[in-house]
Amino acid sequence: MPIPSELTPITYRLLEALDGLTHGVFTRHGGVSLPPYDTLNTAWTNGDRPEHVNENLLRVKRFLGFDHLVSSPQVHGTEIQVVDESVLETRDPGRPFVPAPPGDALVTRLPGVGLMIKIADCQAVFLVDPEKRVAANVHCGWRGSVKEILPKTVRFLKERFGCDPRRMVAAVSPSLGPCCAEFVNHRRELPPSFLPFRTAPNFFDFWAISRRQLMDAGLLPQRIEIAGRCTVCEAQDFFSYRRERITGRMAAVVGWRRKN
Ligand SMILES: [Zn+2]
Repeated sequence: MPIPSELTPITYRLLEALDGLTHGVFTRHGGVSLPPYDTLNTAWTNGDRPEHVNENLLRVKRFLGFDHLVSSPQVHGTEIQVVDESVLETRDPGRPFVPAPPGDALVTRLPGVGLMIKIADCQAVFLVDPEKRVAANVHCGWRGSVKEILPKTVRFLKERFGCDPRRMVAAVSPSLGPCCAEFVNHRRELPPSFLPFRTAPNFFDFWAISRRQLMDAGLLPQRIEIAGRCTVCEAQDFFSYRRERITGRMAAVVGWRRKN
């Protein structure tokens, strides 16, 4: 199959149905970075050339039509950053994105703002309350699953913005699949509560773990969509840290469209 030269984001049926929302999980295609970051790498902490990353980010921003792309340094913790006017005031017009303080969950109600999580095997989980017009984007690797960043973010949205979990829609990005999630040290790294999600002696289904955590936090199963594509298996379309070690990061972006 020829490699696409265009941006080819993955979208979710449940989110496409929401009025005013824009989203996409970009594949590795459509950017300018050279191997091993080929081509749509959106992170510069991995050794790629900054001018290539800048161009890639501009393409993502333009494709989705956001005024601002906001991204935090991701630290595999549970810090939640609310993106409001005060965050946007820190922007440098010469840069294609606005840096928020370090954290692994971004939340906003502002139109025209795209929340970006960068991934290569970790999950980016979009959480949206269509009635309160709140969007969140959560970086959830296995450490995030262990630290329960998903239920923590749902609780935060409930307390801060009055979101009702039963109304919320969640979407889980392409990420480490049950086929490749081997944890030989799982007795040390993962809690016993993950054992029911074992698919083979050392393999775990983190997609099912996220679904369970979201449902325990009050989301309805029919409002959770899982892309179900493994970043390790699909080298043609996805960067994978497990597969490559030195590689790019894909952008997962969600936000409210600017009102015209
Ligand atoms: Zn796989």
